[in-house]
Amino acid sequence: MGRRPQPGTGPAKRSSGRCRETTAPQRGASCPAPAQPSAFHLFVDTAEIEAFRTSLLAWYDRCKRDLPWRRLAVSEPDVDRRAYSVWVSEVMLQQTQVATVMDYYTRWMQKWPTLQALADASLEEVNALWAGLGYYSRGKRLQEGARKVVSELAGRMPRTAEELQKLLPGVGRYTAGAIASISYGQATGVVDGNVTRVLCRLRCLGADASSPPVTEHLWGLAHTLVDRARPGDFNQALMELGATVCSPKAPLCAECPVRPHCWAQRRVEKELEVASRRLLGKAPSSCPPGPDIEECAAGASGSCPLCPPASEPWDSSLGVANFPRKAAKKQPRAERTATCVLERSGRCGEPEFLIVQRPSSGLLAGLWEFPSLLVAPGLKEKQQREALAGHVRAQTGTAVAAGRLRHVGEVVHVFSHIHQTYVVYSLVLDGPGAAAPVKREEEPELPASRWVTKADFQAAAVSTAMKKVLQACERQSREEKMPCTQSDCCLRLDRSGLDPTGMGK
Ligand code: SF4
Ligand code: ZN
Repeated sequence: MGRRPQPGTGPAKRSSGRCRETTAPQRGASCPAPAQPSAFHLFVDTAEIEAFRTSLLAWYDRCKRDLPWRRLAVSEPDVDRRAYSVWVSEVMLQQTQVATVMDYYTRWMQKWPTLQALADASLEEVNALWAGLGYYSRGKRLQEGARKVVSELAGRMPRTAEELQKLLPGVGRYTAGAIASISYGQATGVVDGNVTRVLCRLRCLGADASSPPVTEHLWGLAHTLVDRARPGDFNQALMELGATVCSPKAPLCAECPVRPHCWAQRRVEKELEVASRRLLGKAPSSCPPGPDIEECAAGASGSCPLCPPASEPWDSSLGVANFPRKAAKKQPRAERTATCVLERSGRCGEPEFLIVQRPSSGLLAGLWEFPSLLVAPGLKEKQQREALAGHVRAQTGTAVAAGRLRHVGEVVHVFSHIHQTYVVYSLVLDGPGAAAPVKREEEPELPASRWVTKADFQAAAVSTAMKKVLQACERQSREEKMPCTQSDCCLRLDRSGLDPTGMGK
């Protein structure tokens, strides 16, 4: 289960299957459902729908994972606290795997068990707890939402999916549906990355799953199927099925509780049957085991907006994983950032590092980092170093001689849409308490900056990328302290060709 799965692509490495969602109105005029989808892509038989619900819920009752937010959703008697606890879990699970979320969720709910407690927290505290979970704006938006509920809605969570989406910042169609169905029992379906995959396979939806006709169709299917008596459990069951059985690459169809309702599986069975008859020299069966893919007449003529395009025929080697169709992946853009780890000896001799706060909007908003500067591609090493020294001086008031900056190496961190390379420099300043930054009151336009011990750094709201940067510096320091052999010395010359002792060049 991974990061930022888009509908139709299936989750990437770390996803829980929750997509990052838009907060656009539920039925946008620009997203019309196909005029009359073929019955092949629908659930029309009420007996089949009932059987589907029963099988799926029975499986869920037997096999569901024991997760802290599920326990709370069942045991919390206060409806607002219950909705809040579901909201937190759903936001954390967007683009992040369940195993990672569990610890964060538990700590979050212990620290801020109510909307009021979260509303009273500082953004600094929220960012610190969120550090390492990624997509930091999620925590900030969650807190903005909590503050709105407390200050404008008298602490009462909106009671329907429509109102949740309309009134709460950052709550889109999926999260609204999840909160409403799980917390209030509203009979509304939800579609995330896992549900997309399951539904596309169940009804052979092979067109780009992020296209408006398919998206609307998926929401229509989810609303049709959702169990009226147990909507929250049903939605969680469908997501659980996608996460644990109907996985992107190796689905466990033999263990699937809804296998009899799955057209993709039927197609695989039919292919196998035809192949084995051919092998035995028998004529094709006049009674295939399930409906034919060509039962979508529009698909056969190439005009169905839900069927796979003619240019992408069925690939037998993929089996049911022919669905959903993967949308072309956008390549992340490459960026280079020079970053400077300044160290000084603190009052008790303990090393301290200078960190600055990022702007309150944009990537990693409000988080702390080592002074860093985006550098133009192709900038020469000497210019890069000078630009960084000037940036540190301008941003923190700490004078740094460019020639004294030591090149540590490069640290790569991939954000959702940016392939970021940090070119890391370090400098140990002389003397205890050396080069304190200018006072903030005197330079209000400067970002906040402060010196922190390593323990403070680890506990502060810093990104995983910055933790990797510090690790690279520590690794280099350790290597330098190791006894030297001739070959060692050669190896320890960094990639820039500079002398790591800082004495040369
Ligand atoms: Fe997914 Fe296989 Fe179940 Fe179909 S039968 S829903 S492809 S696991
Ligand atoms: Zn079709």
